[in-house]
Amino acid sequence: MLRFKHNCLCTKEERTRGELTSSEFHKEELKLVLIIQHESFEGEDDKKLKGLAVFVDEDKILSVKTQIVNRRDKGDFRKPMLLPSNHEVVLKLIEHYHKKNLHCGLQILQNILREKFWILNGRKTIRKVVSKCVICKRFSSKRLEVDSGPLPENRVRDVAVFQITGVDGVLFLRSNQKAWVLHLTCAVYRAVHLELITSLSTEAFLMGFRRFIARRGRFSIIYCDNGTNFVGTANLLHGFDWNKIIKHGAVNAIDWKFNPSTAA
Ligand SMILES: [Zn+2]
Repeated sequence: MLRFKHNCLCTKEERTRGELTSSEFHKEELKLVLIIQHESFEGEDDKKLKGLAVFVDEDKILSVKTQIVNRRDKGDFRKPMLLPSNHEVVLKLIEHYHKKNLHCGLQILQNILREKFWILNGRKTIRKVVSKCVICKRFSSKRLEVDSGPLPENRVRDVAVFQITGVDGVLFLRSNQKAWVLHLTCAVYRAVHLELITSLSTEAFLMGFRRFIARRGRFSIIYCDNGTNFVGTANLLHGFDWNKIIKHGAVNAIDWKFNPSTAA
C-alpha cells in the first residue's frame, strides 16, 4: 500500500520495484497499528488504558512501558505496541500468528505475541480466537465412545479348546499349485488352526474338517458367515453345498450357526 502510494507520487525513474523489503514491511506494520490505535483509543489518556504506563513513542505509536524497560533486548519486547482486544484486524493478527506457529496453544501464542504487542485482555482475546480454530477443535474433540456389550454365552463358557469354533477368512494362495486355507478360530480362547485344502469342492471342505477334528477334537458348535454374505470369486465358502455340510455336521452332533448378513 505504501509502495503504491510512493510510486504514484514519484517519477517513473524513482519508482521502487521488486519484492517488498523488510523495512517496507515494518513501515506498513507501524502504519496499520497506528490506524487501529486511532480507531480504538482516544490518545494515551483513554479510560481503557487506566493502570497501564502508556506513552507515545517516536513513531507516534501508543506503547506500553514495561518493568523490563532497562533490559538489553529488542525495543518491541521492552516497549510493546498497544492493541485493543475487539478490533477485527487484531483478531486476524492473532489468527495469523496461531497458524504461522503450527496451531500452538494459548500460552505459547500469548508469549509470541507479547514479544511485539500488548493486547488488552490478551489472554481472553487469544483464547476466543483459538477456540474458533476448526483444525484445533478437530484435534481436541473427544472421540465418540460406545460401551462394549457383554459377550454371548458361547464366547465365555468353560469348554475345551476348539469346542466352539468359527470358520472364516479363507485365504487364496497362488503358487505353482493352487491351494486354499481354512481359518478356524476357537470362539472362547482365540486359538487359531489353519487347514490346507486342495480344491474348492464340498468334499475337500469336509475332508479338511475331518482332518481338523482328528487333530483338535470334535467341536460342538461352529460359527460361519453365511455364504450369501460374500460377493466375488475370492470367497470360497460361497460355492459349497451347505445342505450337505450341515447334514454331515448333524451326523457328528455338530451344530452349525450362520451369522446374519449384517454381522459381516
Ligand atoms: Zn488452530
